[in-house]
Amino acid sequence: MTLTATAKVEGPSGCFPRAENRCLVASNEPMNSEYRLMVVNAPETGLSAYAGQFFHLLCPATATEQPFLRRPMSIYRIDRENGQLGFLYKVTGKGTCALASLAPGDELNATGPLGVGFSIPEGTRHVAMIARGVGLATLAPLARMATVNGAKITAILSARAPEFLMSRDELEAAGAAVIEVNDVAGNSSPQDVTNRLRDIHEKTPIDFMATCGSNRLLSLTRELCSEWNIPGQVAVEAFMGCGLGMCFACVVPVRDAEGKEEMKRVCYDGPVFGVNEVTTW
Ligand SMILES: Cc1cc2nc3c(=O)[nH]c(=O)nc-3n(C[C@H](O)[C@H](O)[C@H](O)COP(=O)(O)OP(=O)(O)OC[C@H]3O[C@@H](n4cnc5c(N)ncnc54)[C@H](O)[C@@H]3O)c2cc1C
Repeated sequence: MTLTATAKVEGPSGCFPRAENRCLVASNEPMNSEYRLMVVNAPETGLSAYAGQFFHLLCPATATEQPFLRRPMSIYRIDRENGQLGFLYKVTGKGTCALASLAPGDELNATGPLGVGFSIPEGTRHVAMIARGVGLATLAPLARMATVNGAKITAILSARAPEFLMSRDELEAAGAAVIEVNDVAGNSSPQDVTNRLRDIHEKTPIDFMATCGSNRLLSLTRELCSEWNIPGQVAVEAFMGCGLGMCFACVVPVRDAEGKEEMKRVCYDGPVFGVNEVTTW
């Protein structure tokens, strides 16, 4: 099958073109009892994605499921050298069950890259990222983005149990210093994570933070960013229809600098927002 992209359209200002990418599944393996990693060979347009952007995946019809709406998935791996994209996804319902049925050689139709991703301010020297659950997928490519921008990166990965800690290899390969915490070990409370970050900041000041995956982590990120007077960003989730900015199904309240709230589209204005702009992850 030839990898093709159709219907190229301009994305939100500053974003790469987006397309319907016909990709070829290279692998689709379980990472643990809940998550799978799907790697696909993708056309050029798909490979133009950057950290924080997502794709809207067409879920195949299976014997039992015919999911209608596409499913939004953050980009987990952007491997331009090998022409591949990776998606780390939790098998939760109809759509992700159908995605889990895809085998090597099957086609994955992925619209994207979509949305506005992370933007690390110029001159940033030390990025701290804090991720939990699916957030481990969304934040992984940020490590490479930070390293390419000459910044040091500290990644705190949180999960409810050791089995669900993922992305360590991916992050270390991108140059990140990885710290894993989990509920079973009793070292994942917001206070524990805050104390660790304060210790790290004392030694090597953190000047940018990013988070995804939990409201508690969003709150502590917001607090530390205000304490250290540094910028921070969060990748949020919302139920989506079109994923292209047309149906307004995914709107969330977003505050401006004066605190005035406005409903904004996660698929078009986000999914990445400033930590003070959004109230929930
Ligand atoms: C921008 C963005 C990036 C995401 N990235 C990832 C990722 O990298 N890895 C991952 O595992 N999950 C990710 N998600 C969540 C993922 O889209 C949902 O888990 C998935 O849509 C569930 O579909 P389902 O059919 O299996 O579940 P069902 O419960 O059967 O879904 C029913 C409907 O609800 C929607 N829905 C259900 N849960 C969610 C949710 N949490 N967020 C948005 N829509 C939902 C589905 O899209 C579908 O339309 C992301 C969501 C968004 C918005």
